[in-house]
Amino acid sequence: TLSKVGLVGLAVMGQNLALNVASKGFQISVFNRSYEKTQDTERRAKEEGNLPLVGFKEMKDFVASLEKPRRVIILVQAGKPVDETIAKLSEHLEAGDLIVDGGNEWYENTERRAQEVAAKGLLYMGMGVSGGESGARNGPSLMPGGPKAGYDLMEPIITKIAAQVDGPCVTHIGPGGAGNYVKMIHNGIEYGDMQLIAEAYDILRTVGGFSNAELKALFEEWNRGELESFLIEITAQIFGVKDPHGEGELVDKILDKTGMKGTGKWTVQTAAEISVPVPTISAALDSRLISGLKEHRVQAAKLFSHQAPADRLGGLSKKDLADHVRRALYASKICSYAQGLNIIRTMGEQKNWNLQLGSIARIWKGGCIIRAVFLDRIKKAFDRDALLPSLLFDPEFANELQTRQASWRKVVSLAIENGIAVPAFSGSLAYFDAYRRERSSANLVQAQRDFFGAHTFERTDKPGSFHQEWAN
Ligand code: NDP
Repeated sequence: TLSKVGLVGLAVMGQNLALNVASKGFQISVFNRSYEKTQDTERRAKEEGNLPLVGFKEMKDFVASLEKPRRVIILVQAGKPVDETIAKLSEHLEAGDLIVDGGNEWYENTERRAQEVAAKGLLYMGMGVSGGESGARNGPSLMPGGPKAGYDLMEPIITKIAAQVDGPCVTHIGPGGAGNYVKMIHNGIEYGDMQLIAEAYDILRTVGGFSNAELKALFEEWNRGELESFLIEITAQIFGVKDPHGEGELVDKILDKTGMKGTGKWTVQTAAEISVPVPTISAALDSRLISGLKEHRVQAAKLFSHQAPADRLGGLSKKDLADHVRRALYASKICSYAQGLNIIRTMGEQKNWNLQLGSIARIWKGGCIIRAVFLDRIKKAFDRDALLPSLLFDPEFANELQTRQASWRKVVSLAIENGIAVPAFSGSLAYFDAYRRERSSANLVQAQRDFFGAHTFERTDKPGSFHQEWAN
């Protein structure tokens, strides 16, 4: 019998997504450039209960095994490998067939490829897949973008393989590269969340003297409240893992240098290009970059000493500190999401993608790395007002920020007094304070610009554009 769907690219993501599809009862054909991975996938399908999965050695046979119109998911390395795979596939595909790229692809590549294959009558989609290996196998959050006709062809399958939280964690994001774009910003938001958690950890251990065991208990407690999320949950688990090669916990032995694959950088780049301020997400990217300068940091640590206050906690109990940090983390997170969602909204408007921010928040509730109870609150904020200009203006979020301000300021001040960099906490707070002030200091910047470059300025008391001969 012919397969419902095909999948090319059987590394971590492809293999697990293929098994997911098969486990939902859809027969799937699979192909990989090197045949061993195809054999591995077949073996796993057999072991996991004779799942309906068929492997092929030749692309031609793979394509011939698919029901028409053919549906092919690609999960190869982003960039050139995708172009090469499309070239080989399209030798065998026919008008009306559909290609869905599930990789972390730059959205403009997807739009270019869609145009290229349209000449052959093929449909093309870019579908963000989030949740890593286990998400791919057990239910990811899926962000498909491209033609509605393509989405309709995939819908019966993707609504079954996606995570299920109040319905399947998938929706037609929008046309063109909208799916890839939203996935990219999801990753930028993920950078922000991870950095905020890391800063909370730094304050708690350095200022508060929390042990790993205490941190584990605290994060477990946090995971039962407003911060409940996958990232808080795994962080609690991390604090409990012993070093398999020695004393103490593994987390203390890990080199403080982060890796990254580029989606965070892309998020900051695109935000700057469309003029959306994202201080928290930028701070997360900067922190990863600074972490990479380990040798410089070791050198600078010897050069610059800092005398921490005798009473590091400034009179607070550890319990009070933990409560303040929890509230500061939550407030910072609201600002970070406000920034990420503003990138999505602004780009959506520029590209006429007609994006539904509430639906996007909904499909992030399960499967993906940023899944959290919090996303349900965001969904509800957009249910109340689909055109909400910023999360900060939703009455519930506004109230939550308002009531957390004192803790937020306390935590940032304590961190600074103790010489601990908290760029994401303070970036969020600066974002909030900058938003909150009707009159900023930009009047002076405008005066300077007009002074040295005759860039002109507007006045607060009358319309028009003005220039002053400033020098006397
Ligand atoms: P990789 O990104 O490591 O890519 C490896 C796969 O690409 C292999 O199947 C490899 O085939 C194939 N490949 C590489 N070059 C070519 C080529 N020129 N022609 C044909 N095939 C080629 O795999 P992942 O599973 O990690 O990721 C797949 C996609 O999903 C990427 O875009 C990634 O960014 C994205 N993604 C990954 C996540 C993760 O947690 N890993 C999470 C979410 C998205 P061969 O075996 O022959 O070398």
